[in-house]
Amino acid sequence: MPGRFAKKVAIITGSSFGIGRETALLFAKEGAKVTVTGRNEERLEGTKKALIDAGIPESNYLIVPADITTSAGQDSLISETLNKFGKINILVNNAGASLPDAQKKFGIDQGVDTYEKVMKLNVQSVIEMTQKVRPHLAKSKGEIVNVSSVVALKFGFARTPYYPLAKAALDQYTRSAAIDLIAEGIRVNTVNPGIVQTGFLGSATGMSGDACQEFYDNMGSNPSVVPVGFSGRPDHIAKAIAFLADRDSSEYIIVSLYLWILTHKFFRTFIVNSFSLYTRQ
Ligand code: NDP
Repeated sequence: MPGRFAKKVAIITGSSFGIGRETALLFAKEGAKVTVTGRNEERLEGTKKALIDAGIPESNYLIVPADITTSAGQDSLISETLNKFGKINILVNNAGASLPDAQKKFGIDQGVDTYEKVMKLNVQSVIEMTQKVRPHLAKSKGEIVNVSSVVALKFGFARTPYYPLAKAALDQYTRSAAIDLIAEGIRVNTVNPGIVQTGFLGSATGMSGDACQEFYDNMGSNPSVVPVGFSGRPDHIAKAIAFLADRDSSEYIIVSLYLWILTHKFFRTFIVNSFSLYTRQ
């Protein structure tokens, strides 16, 4: 298919839903061959349907169910992509989450097991995927875009300390990898979204769809919290990822931090708001 990603092959992790799904769809519409992945078969079917509805031929997408935190999952993602498409040009490390504590604890009482799981998903899987895909990207002079978060900024998040910690670590890794890999012609960048209406909040808190929507509406409609005046949609982030993954558009950008600016009040309101939503469960 014609488009700025014609002849490009992209692996987008966490593309069974949310930002990843929208990114896979945008890339495919702009000509890329995309590997879509996640653990949940029903969600993967949803992305497949969105691709079919957009008129993307089966030859241009591949669905690989995989847990990105496992070696076997990472390996099958890469080998199945190479088997079907023959090369890899773009890796979007998007899969991530703020995982709830198994003991339902908050703050520094959250267990080390929670810390390990959050780090494994948001940081270690990115490190491993980067290492494994590196030779293929060196060959294709390819691109990596990591999806971090605005919570990586220097603010304390008392209730869920490990997710911001993981995203801050991810940003530091992105800076190091970007400088290291540009020597091989591989560009590494990151986007750091603010509030985006996806499955993220529901997965993190167990809140219902309606409660999540109320949260997004409340936060988004208060410009002193979110200056742009509304909560983000996945396509807003997908467009920034596409810009950073397209060498024609962003050749001279590496180590970028594409931040969705929120005010200091956001961080206070977020904590108060999410606390009241938690306690309403
Ligand atoms: P969603 O919950 O909507 O999507 C998360 C995606 O990650 C799903 O496709 C999910 O797939 C996948 N995923 C999670 N864990 C695993 C795993 N172990 N193995 C494979 N896939 C996994 O959230 P978003 O779209 O919002 O999240 C995308 C990224 O954006 C994340 O890195 C998140 O931290 C970041 N972000 C989101 C913000 C927001 O407000 N939404 C704000 C800032 C950053 P499945 O369920 O099928 O396994």
